[in-house]
Amino acid sequence: MNGRTSRYHGQTQAGTDPYTLRGLLRCRGCEQRVQPHTSASGVRGYRCLSGCRLSDLDATTLERLVYDAAEAADPTLAFDMPQNQHAILFNQVIAVIHVGATPDDLTVTWKT
Ligand SMILES: [Zn+2]
Repeated sequence: MNGRTSRYHGQTQAGTDPYTLRGLLRCRGCEQRVQPHTSASGVRGYRCLSGCRLSDLDATTLERLVYDAAEAADPTLAFDMPQNQHAILFNQVIAVIHVGATPDDLTVTWKT
């Protein structure tokens, strides 16, 4: 039996990227993209590339807050999928997320 299910060989596959908000975040201060960044100690975070953040935004906290906001906005979404596949949902319903200095200072712009 062939146990492999990969259909997109050689490309980044949905569900394998731990940074589920990749590409959706923008800095409230400078409008630049906020990119995934892993600290030297291995903590996942998001960081503004222009350097206007003194420290990373905690990725786990930010992703949970966005998840909660998405669930509140549309309870019909299929939220029983693994955390590492939330990027699929987020990209379906969210146009952009502006983040401030802390993870709970965020503004979600939904796709209409
Ligand atoms: Zn910035």
